[in-house]
Amino acid sequence: MFDQDRLLSTVFGFDSFRPGQAEIVEAVIRGENTLAILPTGAGKSLCFQLPALARDGLTVVISPLIALMRDQVRALKAAGVSAGALTSGNTEEETDEVFAALHAGDLKILYIAPERLASHAARDMLKRAGTSLIAVDEAHCVSQWGHDFRPDYLRIGELRRALGVPLAAFTATADAETREEIINRLFDGDAPTTFLHGFDRPNIHLSLQAKNSPRKQILEFADKRRGQSGIVYCGTRAKTETLSRALNDDRHTACFYHGGMEAEDRRIVEGRFQREDGLIVVATVAFGMGIDKPDIRWVAHADLPKSIEAYYQEIGRAGRDGAPAEAFSLFGSDDVKFRRQQIDEGVAPDDRKMADHARLNALLGLAEALECRRKNLLGYFGETEVTCGNCDLCDTPPETFDGTEAVRKALSAILRTGEYFGAGHIIDILTGTLTDKVRQRGHDNLPTYGLGKDIDKRTWQAIFRQMMAHDLIRPDPARHGAFRMTQAARPILRDEEKITLRKDTIKSGERRVAVKTLVSEEDAPLLSALKAKRRALAEAARVPAYIIFNDRTLIEMAEQRPDDLDAFARISGVGAKKLENFGAAFLEVINGDAPEEQHPMRRKLAGRATGSLYDRLLEVQVQLARGECGGLKPLSCSASLLAKVAELRPASQDMLTRILGDKRAERFGPAFMDILQDG
Ligand code: ADP
Ligand code: MG
Ligand code: ZN
Repeated sequence: MFDQDRLLSTVFGFDSFRPGQAEIVEAVIRGENTLAILPTGAGKSLCFQLPALARDGLTVVISPLIALMRDQVRALKAAGVSAGALTSGNTEEETDEVFAALHAGDLKILYIAPERLASHAARDMLKRAGTSLIAVDEAHCVSQWGHDFRPDYLRIGELRRALGVPLAAFTATADAETREEIINRLFDGDAPTTFLHGFDRPNIHLSLQAKNSPRKQILEFADKRRGQSGIVYCGTRAKTETLSRALNDDRHTACFYHGGMEAEDRRIVEGRFQREDGLIVVATVAFGMGIDKPDIRWVAHADLPKSIEAYYQEIGRAGRDGAPAEAFSLFGSDDVKFRRQQIDEGVAPDDRKMADHARLNALLGLAEALECRRKNLLGYFGETEVTCGNCDLCDTPPETFDGTEAVRKALSAILRTGEYFGAGHIIDILTGTLTDKVRQRGHDNLPTYGLGKDIDKRTWQAIFRQMMAHDLIRPDPARHGAFRMTQAARPILRDEEKITLRKDTIKSGERRVAVKTLVSEEDAPLLSALKAKRRALAEAARVPAYIIFNDRTLIEMAEQRPDDLDAFARISGVGAKKLENFGAAFLEVINGDAPEEQHPMRRKLAGRATGSLYDRLLEVQVQLARGECGGLKPLSCSASLLAKVAELRPASQDMLTRILGDKRAERFGPAFMDILQDG
């Protein structure tokens, strides 16, 4: 449909839909109930924002987080869309402004916090305001089993019934359980048109590394990425503070964030992260859903996340703008123990605990994977057609060895000591290390004593870590983390199955993975200059940098080097409003001088074929201003008249005359027709 392509380019500045968007947009415009499950960064917002503009009436957007709503409203306004938000974070003026726009009937998109739905007044107000569509962002918040449950989301079904309008729900969480709950609670069980899209985020480079000296590993990683915005996730609050200090000592700008901080302090960090370029936030998972920053260049894990879903969600915060981004995660034996204990000691029913262990196992399988991370990760979500070349294992395949013999020795040492000890003691037995504990218990008399001498302690630790990861052994919470063999280990113990293990890849300082730069060396200085301009404009307007343009748009500018407004308008992310507001400033950075002033009518056509048609019409018009022989009274067409001719492309002299009027048609008609017919 022509209309939505036009909105896509003129309002949002994108020249094509991302995978999945077009179908969803069409269904929502048609007024169908829809449920769209698309990964983070896929561009879900556009799937309700664009239909809101294409449809009559008001679209109400329900979203769980105030900061997130405010940013989206700001971004929409920057694109020239009439949008507003009603949240508890509003100033009085902001609220007044929203109501004024509602009364005037020219508000197209209204963001509203779910708490507001509790009042009848709000529902009546939405009815009177001519609401024609409800969009629910982060729809998984209706799921009571999920971690982001919002009780107020349960009122949305009621609102839909009261207004009797279509509803479009969006989420990145795809598991069948959550999906079913969404359908029950938001659509009263009537299956909506459902879109389920791929989970690959090809622009994120994946890498996981065994912990060696974790602080040093994180500092080295951050050191090569100075000036980029990143998040470091930690397992504990205390660690966020110490690691943030270490980063600051290393001349980074970093701050910490966790659930134990005052709400006000947390908001300050959220605000800074959103606005500043190149800030590192060291955080617990409390730093989560509220972040909607498209230009996070990397996410690191100083500790292993709790499940493969958590890993996916956390790394997914990087690179939403589609430009290259990185995920770098550390894992170690302590993490595995910690996560297992967390599950075992939790209050969930037993079948939940089993499921949680399985999710952790999936993540550990990813950590110890022998080939492509992406295949492994997406395989978990049921995707089989995966191409990668953008992970550490595709970069450098790991060295492996047949670990069957070593694992059997370890299992037998564990069994012979009554499944009563942790890795340290068992490794002492295997390597024949005569400690007091070994002597006291008489473990130097075991047949397994010294049986693993040929392998050093460090390698044994890596073997134990991998045994945990393959879920062959589990720390037993009732026995202070002593290992117990699982069923999965039996075939190996009986020599019915073999197991391949990784040689540990980290021998400190080894294997430097080259840092991927955003642009070639040649374009890097221009990209920096464009970023500086963006920062200045963002500070002047008091908005986050990406509201001006996102990284991906700047990268394209640096690579394409547009030399006039037409070329500039063709850069992805440049819509009409941004072209007008910022085009000249950025062109000046790129070309060293400001572009020629253009008539506003002409500027509207920038980047389109109609624009160059206009230019040719203007050219002959100037030549013919005094007629063919130059002796006639001067005559010209206004810019809007020329734009009209260029837009409508009349097919005959008659039609042209109707646009131009007789006098002008007589002078310019034949020449214009020549141009129109050969273009
Ligand atoms: P999601 O909510 O699915 O995580 P967002 O709606 O926040 O994703 O969009 C992520 C980024 O993708 C934003 O920076 C947005 O401007 C950009 N984006 C969305 N649609 C397109 C498109 N068709 N072309 C280019 N960029 C897009
Ligand atoms: Mg979103
Ligand atoms: Zn790969």
